[in-house]
Amino acid sequence: MNTTNTEELDYLIVGQGLAGTLLSFFLLNKNQRIKVIDFPHPGASSKIAAGVVNPVTGRRIAKSWRFEELLPAARQTYRELELLLGIEIWQERNILRALHNNFEESEWDRRGAFPEYEPYFEPTADASSFQGKIHQPFAWGELKQSAQAAMPELVFAYRRWLEKQGLILEENFDYQQVKPDRARVIYGRFSAKKIVFCEGARALDNPFFNYLPFVPTKGELLIVRIPGAGFDKMLKHKTFIVPIKSDPENPGIPEGELFWVGSTSRWEYDGPEPTEERRKWLVKQLDAVLELPYEIIRQFAGIRPTVQDIRPFLGTHPKYPALAIFNGLGTKGASLGPFFASQMAAFLLGTTKLDDEVNISRYSIPDA
Ligand SMILES: Cc1cc2nc3c(=O)[nH]c(=O)nc-3n(C[C@H](O)[C@H](O)[C@H](O)COP(=O)(O)OP(=O)(O)OC[C@H]3O[C@@H](n4cnc5c(N)ncnc54)[C@H](O)[C@@H]3O)c2cc1C
Repeated sequence: MNTTNTEELDYLIVGQGLAGTLLSFFLLNKNQRIKVIDFPHPGASSKIAAGVVNPVTGRRIAKSWRFEELLPAARQTYRELELLLGIEIWQERNILRALHNNFEESEWDRRGAFPEYEPYFEPTADASSFQGKIHQPFAWGELKQSAQAAMPELVFAYRRWLEKQGLILEENFDYQQVKPDRARVIYGRFSAKKIVFCEGARALDNPFFNYLPFVPTKGELLIVRIPGAGFDKMLKHKTFIVPIKSDPENPGIPEGELFWVGSTSRWEYDGPEPTEERRKWLVKQLDAVLELPYEIIRQFAGIRPTVQDIRPFLGTHPKYPALAIFNGLGTKGASLGPFFASQMAAFLLGTTKLDDEVNISRYSIPDA
Protein backbone atom coordinates (compact mmCIF):
# COMPACT_ATOMS: atom_id res chain seq x y z
CA MET A 1 0.00 0.00 0.00
CA ASN A 2 1.20 3.52 -0.77
CA THR A 3 1.56 4.95 2.75
CA THR A 4 1.69 8.54 1.50
CA ASN A 5 -2.03 8.24 0.62
CA THR A 6 -3.01 6.71 3.95
CA GLU A 7 -5.21 8.83 6.19
CA GLU A 8 -4.64 8.15 9.88
CA LEU A 9 -7.77 8.23 12.02
CA ASP A 10 -8.68 7.36 15.56
CA TYR A 11 -12.14 6.01 14.62
CA LEU A 12 -13.95 5.27 11.39
CA ILE A 13 -17.70 5.18 12.03
CA VAL A 14 -20.02 3.29 9.68
CA GLY A 15 -23.60 4.61 9.65
CA GLN A 16 -24.99 8.03 10.50
CA GLY A 17 -28.38 7.35 11.96
CA LEU A 18 -28.94 8.32 15.56
CA ALA A 19 -26.25 5.90 16.85
CA GLY A 20 -23.49 7.14 14.52
CA THR A 21 -24.54 10.76 15.08
CA LEU A 22 -24.32 10.54 18.86
CA LEU A 23 -21.16 8.45 18.99
CA SER A 24 -19.30 10.71 16.58
CA PHE A 25 -20.47 13.76 18.56
CA PHE A 26 -19.02 12.38 21.81
CA LEU A 27 -15.76 11.33 20.14
CA LEU A 28 -15.31 14.73 18.48
CA ASN A 29 -15.90 16.36 21.88
CA LYS A 30 -12.85 14.38 23.05
CA ASN A 31 -10.78 15.68 20.11
CA GLN A 32 -10.67 12.34 18.33
CA ARG A 33 -9.88 12.19 14.61
CA ILE A 34 -12.91 10.57 13.01
CA LYS A 35 -14.59 10.03 9.67
CA VAL A 36 -18.14 8.82 9.13
CA ILE A 37 -19.23 6.67 6.19
CA ASP A 38 -22.96 6.61 5.50
CA PHE A 39 -25.09 5.65 2.56
CA PRO A 40 -28.71 6.79 2.74
CA HIS A 41 -30.35 3.35 2.47
CA PRO A 42 -34.15 3.23 2.48
CA GLY A 43 -35.60 2.06 5.80
CA ALA A 44 -33.18 3.91 8.10
CA SER A 45 -35.29 4.30 11.22
CA SER A 46 -33.80 7.54 12.61
CA LYS A 47 -35.10 9.44 9.58
CA ILE A 48 -38.73 8.67 10.33
CA ALA A 49 -38.97 8.04 14.10
CA ALA A 50 -41.18 10.15 16.35
CA GLY A 51 -38.43 10.28 18.98
CA VAL A 52 -40.81 9.77 21.88
CA VAL A 53 -39.00 9.51 25.21
CA ASN A 54 -41.45 7.58 27.35
CA PRO A 55 -40.89 6.75 31.03
CA VAL A 56 -43.64 4.11 31.27
CA THR A 57 -44.55 1.86 28.35
CA GLY A 58 -46.54 -1.09 27.11
CA ARG A 59 -49.61 -2.98 28.20
CA ARG A 60 -47.86 -3.94 31.41
CA ILE A 61 -47.42 -0.24 32.27
CA ALA A 62 -43.75 -0.91 33.00
CA LYS A 63 -41.17 1.73 33.86
CA SER A 64 -38.57 2.01 31.10
CA TRP A 65 -35.27 0.35 31.97
CA ARG A 66 -32.80 2.73 33.73
CA PHE A 67 -34.96 5.71 32.79
CA GLU A 68 -33.76 7.79 35.75
CA GLU A 69 -30.22 7.69 34.25
CA LEU A 70 -31.27 7.91 30.60
CA LEU A 71 -33.47 11.00 30.87
CA PRO A 72 -30.86 13.47 32.22
CA ALA A 73 -28.27 12.18 29.71
CA ALA A 74 -30.77 12.64 26.86
CA ARG A 75 -31.81 16.12 27.95
CA GLN A 76 -28.21 17.32 28.26
CA THR A 77 -26.96 15.74 25.02
CA TYR A 78 -29.82 16.94 22.81
CA ARG A 79 -29.50 20.44 24.26
CA GLU A 80 -25.77 20.46 23.47
CA LEU A 81 -26.61 19.35 19.93
CA GLU A 82 -29.21 22.13 19.67
CA LEU A 83 -26.45 24.65 20.42
CA LEU A 84 -24.06 23.07 17.92
CA LEU A 85 -26.60 22.83 15.09
CA GLY A 86 -28.82 25.83 15.80
CA ILE A 87 -32.06 23.81 15.63
CA GLU A 88 -34.66 22.75 18.19
CA ILE A 89 -34.40 19.04 19.05
CA TRP A 90 -35.60 18.49 22.63
CA GLN A 91 -39.19 19.18 23.57
CA GLU A 92 -40.60 18.15 26.96
CA ARG A 93 -44.27 17.17 26.62
CA ASN A 94 -46.62 15.05 28.72
CA ILE A 95 -48.17 11.88 27.33
CA LEU A 96 -51.90 11.40 27.70
CA ARG A 97 -52.65 7.68 27.71
CA ALA A 98 -56.07 6.15 27.12
CA LEU A 99 -57.10 3.45 29.58
CA HIS A 100 -59.64 1.16 27.99
CA ASN A 101 -61.32 -0.62 30.88
CA ASN A 102 -61.61 -1.01 34.62
CA PHE A 103 -58.64 -3.34 34.82
CA GLU A 104 -56.30 -0.94 32.99
CA GLU A 105 -57.43 1.94 35.17
CA SER A 106 -56.85 0.10 38.44
CA GLU A 107 -53.49 -1.20 37.16
CA TRP A 108 -52.53 2.40 36.32
CA ASP A 109 -53.48 3.55 39.81
CA ARG A 110 -51.64 0.63 41.41
CA ARG A 111 -48.43 1.34 39.47
CA GLY A 112 -48.61 5.06 40.15
CA ALA A 113 -48.51 4.38 43.87
CA PHE A 114 -45.06 2.69 43.68
CA PRO A 115 -42.30 5.11 44.73
CA GLU A 116 -40.23 4.45 41.57
CA TYR A 117 -43.21 5.27 39.32
CA GLU A 118 -44.45 8.28 41.27
CA PRO A 119 -42.10 10.85 39.59
CA TYR A 120 -43.62 10.01 36.20
CA PHE A 121 -47.37 9.96 36.96
CA GLU A 122 -49.45 13.15 37.01
CA PRO A 123 -51.83 12.81 39.97
CA THR A 124 -54.77 13.88 37.75
CA ALA A 125 -54.92 13.55 33.98
CA ASP A 126 -56.00 16.70 32.15
CA ALA A 127 -57.58 15.93 28.78
CA SER A 128 -59.53 19.19 28.51
CA SER A 129 -57.71 20.34 25.34
CA PHE A 130 -58.82 17.12 23.61
CA GLN A 131 -62.50 17.61 24.49
CA GLY A 132 -64.76 17.29 21.45
CA LYS A 133 -61.81 16.33 19.25
CA ILE A 134 -61.08 12.80 20.46
CA HIS A 135 -63.50 10.01 21.35
CA GLN A 136 -63.31 9.65 25.11
CA PRO A 137 -61.82 6.37 26.30
CA PHE A 138 -62.90 4.64 29.54
CA ALA A 139 -60.38 6.79 31.48
CA TRP A 140 -57.15 8.76 31.03
CA GLY A 141 -53.73 8.52 32.63
CA GLU A 142 -51.07 11.20 32.19
CA LEU A 143 -47.28 10.83 32.24
CA LYS A 144 -44.78 13.58 32.93
CA GLN A 145 -41.00 13.68 32.46
CA SER A 146 -41.66 12.49 28.91
CA ALA A 147 -40.27 14.22 25.83
CA GLN A 148 -39.76 14.22 22.10
CA ALA A 149 -36.35 14.26 20.43
CA ALA A 150 -36.65 15.46 16.83
CA MET A 151 -34.62 12.56 15.47
CA PRO A 152 -35.00 13.14 11.69
CA GLU A 153 -34.18 16.86 12.04
CA LEU A 154 -31.15 16.00 14.19
CA VAL A 155 -29.79 13.41 11.77
CA PHE A 156 -30.25 15.66 8.71
CA ALA A 157 -28.80 18.77 10.38
CA TYR A 158 -25.85 16.85 11.82
CA ARG A 159 -25.12 15.40 8.39
CA ARG A 160 -24.92 18.92 6.92
CA TRP A 161 -22.62 19.89 9.79
CA LEU A 162 -20.34 16.86 9.17
CA GLU A 163 -20.26 17.76 5.46
CA LYS A 164 -19.10 21.29 6.30
CA GLN A 165 -16.31 19.85 8.46
CA GLY A 166 -15.32 17.40 5.69
CA LEU A 167 -15.97 14.48 8.02
CA ILE A 168 -18.51 12.39 6.09
CA LEU A 169 -18.30 10.19 3.02
CA GLU A 170 -21.49 9.22 1.28
CA GLU A 171 -20.78 5.68 0.14
CA ASN A 172 -21.75 2.11 0.81
CA PHE A 173 -19.27 0.48 3.18
CA ASP A 174 -17.54 -2.47 1.55
CA TYR A 175 -16.87 -5.17 4.15
CA GLN A 176 -14.49 -6.98 1.76
CA GLN A 177 -12.03 -4.13 2.05
CA VAL A 178 -11.57 -4.43 5.83
CA LYS A 179 -8.21 -5.69 7.04
CA PRO A 180 -8.88 -6.10 10.75
CA ASP A 181 -6.13 -8.48 11.88
CA ARG A 182 -3.49 -5.88 12.74
CA ALA A 183 -2.79 -3.36 15.48
CA ARG A 184 -4.72 -0.80 13.43
CA VAL A 185 -7.54 -1.63 11.08
CA ILE A 186 -7.10 -0.76 7.42
CA TYR A 187 -10.06 0.18 5.23
CA GLY A 188 -9.17 1.47 1.76
CA ARG A 189 -7.10 4.61 2.27
CA PHE A 190 -7.90 4.80 5.99
CA SER A 191 -5.89 3.43 8.87
CA ALA A 192 -7.80 3.64 12.18
CA LYS A 193 -7.53 2.46 15.76
CA LYS A 194 -10.99 1.03 15.33
CA ILE A 195 -13.92 0.86 12.94
CA VAL A 196 -17.18 1.29 14.86
CA PHE A 197 -20.25 -0.10 13.12
CA CYS A 198 -23.52 1.82 13.71
CA GLU A 199 -25.55 0.42 10.82
CA GLY A 200 -28.93 0.01 12.48
CA ALA A 201 -30.94 -2.94 11.13
CA ARG A 202 -28.54 -3.31 8.19
CA ALA A 203 -26.07 -4.87 10.61
CA LEU A 204 -27.56 -8.14 9.38
CA ASP A 205 -25.35 -7.66 6.29
CA ASN A 206 -22.21 -7.17 8.39
CA PRO A 207 -20.16 -10.38 8.21
CA PHE A 208 -18.30 -9.52 11.43
CA PHE A 209 -21.28 -8.84 13.70
CA ASN A 210 -24.27 -10.64 12.17
CA TYR A 211 -23.79 -13.45 14.72
CA LEU A 212 -25.49 -11.15 17.24
CA PRO A 213 -29.22 -11.84 17.68
CA PHE A 214 -30.73 -8.95 15.75
CA VAL A 215 -34.49 -9.34 15.17
CA PRO A 216 -35.38 -6.17 13.18
CA THR A 217 -38.98 -5.00 13.14
CA LYS A 218 -40.60 -2.96 10.43
CA GLY A 219 -42.65 0.06 11.49
CA GLU A 220 -44.99 2.24 9.44
CA LEU A 221 -46.52 5.63 10.19
CA LEU A 222 -48.58 8.41 8.71
CA ILE A 223 -47.98 12.14 8.71
CA VAL A 224 -51.44 13.73 8.94
CA ARG A 225 -52.92 17.19 8.99
CA ILE A 226 -55.71 17.71 11.52
CA PRO A 227 -57.11 21.24 11.14
CA GLY A 228 -58.20 22.70 14.47
CA ALA A 229 -56.45 20.02 16.55
CA GLY A 230 -53.82 22.05 18.41
CA PHE A 231 -52.98 19.08 20.68
CA ASP A 232 -50.30 20.17 23.12
CA LYS A 233 -49.60 16.70 24.55
CA MET A 234 -48.60 13.43 22.98
CA LEU A 235 -51.56 11.09 22.80
CA LYS A 236 -51.44 7.31 23.20
CA HIS A 237 -54.90 6.08 22.23
CA LYS A 238 -54.98 2.99 19.96
CA THR A 239 -51.82 4.43 18.39
CA PHE A 240 -49.50 7.36 19.10
CA ILE A 241 -50.53 10.82 17.84
CA VAL A 242 -47.55 13.11 18.27
CA PRO A 243 -47.33 16.81 17.32
CA ILE A 244 -44.57 17.68 14.86
CA LYS A 245 -43.37 21.14 13.91
CA SER A 246 -43.26 20.99 10.15
CA ASP A 247 -43.09 18.82 7.08
CA PRO A 248 -40.27 19.82 4.70
CA GLU A 249 -42.43 18.98 1.66
CA ASN A 250 -45.45 20.94 2.95
CA PRO A 251 -43.98 24.06 4.56
CA GLY A 252 -47.34 25.86 4.48
CA ILE A 253 -48.99 23.68 7.12
CA PRO A 254 -49.02 25.56 10.44
CA GLU A 255 -47.75 24.10 13.71
CA GLY A 256 -50.60 22.60 15.71
CA GLU A 257 -52.10 20.88 12.66
CA LEU A 258 -49.33 18.39 11.80
CA PHE A 259 -49.05 15.03 13.53
CA TRP A 260 -47.00 11.84 13.41
CA VAL A 261 -49.34 8.85 13.71
CA GLY A 262 -48.07 5.36 14.39
CA SER A 263 -46.62 3.05 14.42
CA THR A 264 -47.10 -0.52 13.34
CA SER A 265 -44.77 -3.31 14.34
CA ARG A 266 -44.04 -6.34 12.26
CA TRP A 267 -41.40 -9.07 12.40
CA GLU A 268 -41.93 -10.40 8.86
CA TYR A 269 -39.76 -8.41 6.49
CA ASP A 270 -41.50 -7.40 3.25
CA GLY A 271 -39.03 -4.70 2.18
CA PRO A 272 -38.46 -1.14 3.42
CA GLU A 273 -41.41 0.38 1.50
CA PRO A 274 -44.72 1.47 3.06
CA THR A 275 -47.63 -0.90 2.43
CA GLU A 276 -51.32 -0.42 1.67
CA GLU A 277 -52.20 -2.99 4.34
CA ARG A 278 -50.50 -1.05 7.16
CA ARG A 279 -51.92 2.24 5.89
CA LYS A 280 -55.42 0.80 6.23
CA TRP A 281 -54.65 -0.40 9.75
CA LEU A 282 -53.40 3.04 10.79
CA VAL A 283 -56.44 4.74 9.23
CA LYS A 284 -58.70 2.37 11.17
CA GLN A 285 -57.00 3.34 14.45
CA LEU A 286 -57.24 7.05 13.62
CA ASP A 287 -60.90 6.79 12.67
CA ALA A 288 -61.64 5.10 15.97
CA VAL A 289 -59.96 7.90 17.92
CA LEU A 290 -60.44 11.21 16.09
CA GLU A 291 -63.66 13.18 16.02
CA LEU A 292 -62.07 15.79 13.73
CA PRO A 293 -61.58 15.35 9.98
CA TYR A 294 -58.00 14.78 8.87
CA GLU A 295 -55.89 14.51 5.74
CA ILE A 296 -53.07 12.03 5.16
CA ILE A 297 -50.00 13.90 3.94
CA ARG A 298 -47.44 11.09 3.73
CA GLN A 299 -46.71 7.52 4.74
CA PHE A 300 -43.30 6.19 5.79
CA ALA A 301 -41.75 2.89 6.79
CA GLY A 302 -38.53 2.06 8.61
CA ILE A 303 -36.74 -0.90 10.14
CA ARG A 304 -35.96 -0.78 13.86
CA PRO A 305 -32.69 -2.36 15.02
CA THR A 306 -34.48 -4.48 17.61
CA VAL A 307 -32.61 -7.29 19.34
CA GLN A 308 -33.56 -10.45 21.16
CA ASP A 309 -32.91 -9.37 24.76
CA ILE A 310 -33.94 -5.72 24.20
CA ARG A 311 -30.60 -4.38 25.42
CA PRO A 312 -28.21 -2.37 23.20
CA PHE A 313 -25.15 -3.93 21.59
CA LEU A 314 -21.87 -2.27 22.63
CA GLY A 315 -18.37 -3.66 22.46
CA THR A 316 -15.53 -5.02 20.40
CA HIS A 317 -15.38 -8.10 18.25
CA PRO A 318 -14.13 -11.20 20.15
CA LYS A 319 -11.56 -12.05 17.43
CA TYR A 320 -10.81 -8.62 15.95
CA PRO A 321 -10.46 -6.00 18.70
CA ALA A 322 -10.05 -3.26 16.08
CA LEU A 323 -13.72 -3.75 15.12
CA ALA A 324 -16.44 -2.42 17.40
CA ILE A 325 -20.20 -2.03 17.37
CA PHE A 326 -22.74 0.44 18.76
CA ASN A 327 -26.21 -0.74 17.80
CA GLY A 328 -29.37 -2.44 19.09
CA LEU A 329 -31.15 0.76 20.12
CA GLY A 330 -34.39 -0.98 19.20
CA THR A 331 -37.63 0.88 19.81
CA LYS A 332 -36.08 3.35 22.26
CA GLY A 333 -33.14 4.98 20.52
CA ALA A 334 -34.14 8.50 21.57
CA SER A 335 -33.71 7.68 25.27
CA LEU A 336 -31.06 4.92 25.15
CA GLY A 337 -28.86 6.63 22.54
CA PRO A 338 -27.27 9.53 24.45
CA PHE A 339 -26.41 7.60 27.65
CA PHE A 340 -24.94 4.61 25.85
CA ALA A 341 -23.17 6.61 23.11
CA SER A 342 -21.43 8.46 25.92
CA GLN A 343 -20.54 5.15 27.59
CA MET A 344 -19.30 3.70 24.28
CA ALA A 345 -17.09 6.74 23.63
CA ALA A 346 -15.60 6.51 27.13
CA PHE A 347 -15.03 2.78 26.65
CA LEU A 348 -13.22 3.38 23.34
CA LEU A 349 -11.03 5.96 25.06
CA GLY A 350 -10.26 3.51 27.86
CA THR A 351 -11.83 5.57 30.63
CA THR A 352 -14.73 3.26 31.54
CA LYS A 353 -15.90 -0.33 31.33
CA LEU A 354 -19.08 -1.32 29.54
CA ASP A 355 -22.07 -2.36 31.61
CA ASP A 356 -22.43 -6.16 31.47
CA GLU A 357 -26.05 -5.91 30.30
CA VAL A 358 -25.09 -4.07 27.10
CA ASN A 359 -21.69 -5.61 26.42
CA ILE A 360 -21.80 -7.93 23.40
CA SER A 361 -19.55 -10.30 25.35
CA ARG A 362 -22.86 -11.69 26.65
CA TYR A 363 -23.04 -13.55 23.32
CA SER A 364 -20.39 -15.90 22.03
CA ILE A 365 -19.40 -16.08 18.39
CA PRO A 366 -20.60 -19.43 16.97
CA ASP A 367 -17.22 -20.93 16.01
CA ALA A 368 -15.10 -19.25 18.74
C1 LIG B 1 -41.76 3.71 12.76
C2 LIG B 1 -40.73 3.88 13.82
C3 LIG B 1 -41.01 4.68 14.92
C4 LIG B 1 -40.06 4.84 15.93
N1 LIG B 1 -40.35 5.67 16.97
C5 LIG B 1 -39.46 5.83 17.97
C6 LIG B 1 -39.75 6.69 19.06
O1 LIG B 1 -40.80 7.32 19.11
N2 LIG B 1 -38.83 6.79 20.06
C7 LIG B 1 -37.63 6.13 20.01
O2 LIG B 1 -36.84 6.26 20.93
N3 LIG B 1 -37.33 5.32 18.97
C8 LIG B 1 -38.20 5.15 17.97
N4 LIG B 1 -37.90 4.33 16.92
C9 LIG B 1 -36.63 3.59 16.96
C10 LIG B 1 -35.45 4.48 16.51
O3 LIG B 1 -35.75 4.95 15.23
C11 LIG B 1 -34.16 3.67 16.53
O4 LIG B 1 -33.89 3.21 17.84
C12 LIG B 1 -32.94 4.49 16.06
O5 LIG B 1 -33.29 5.38 15.06
C13 LIG B 1 -31.84 3.57 15.56
O6 LIG B 1 -30.80 4.35 15.04
P1 LIG B 1 -29.55 3.69 14.33
O7 LIG B 1 -28.58 4.77 14.08
O8 LIG B 1 -29.08 2.51 15.12
O9 LIG B 1 -30.11 3.07 12.96
P2 LIG B 1 -30.55 3.81 11.60
O10 LIG B 1 -31.37 4.99 11.87
O11 LIG B 1 -31.17 2.74 10.74
O12 LIG B 1 -29.20 4.31 10.94
C14 LIG B 1 -28.25 3.45 10.36
C15 LIG B 1 -27.51 4.21 9.25
O13 LIG B 1 -26.42 3.41 8.78
C16 LIG B 1 -26.44 3.41 7.36
N5 LIG B 1 -25.77 2.18 6.90
C17 LIG B 1 -26.08 0.90 7.22
N6 LIG B 1 -25.26 0.05 6.60
C18 LIG B 1 -24.39 0.80 5.88
C19 LIG B 1 -23.30 0.51 5.01
N7 LIG B 1 -22.91 -0.75 4.75
N8 LIG B 1 -22.65 1.54 4.41
C20 LIG B 1 -23.01 2.82 4.64
N9 LIG B 1 -24.04 3.17 5.47
C21 LIG B 1 -24.72 2.17 6.07
C22 LIG B 1 -27.92 3.46 7.03
O14 LIG B 1 -28.18 3.82 5.70
C23 LIG B 1 -28.41 4.48 8.05
O15 LIG B 1 -28.21 5.79 7.58
C24 LIG B 1 -38.80 4.16 15.86
C25 LIG B 1 -38.52 3.39 14.75
C26 LIG B 1 -39.47 3.23 13.72
C27 LIG B 1 -39.14 2.39 12.53
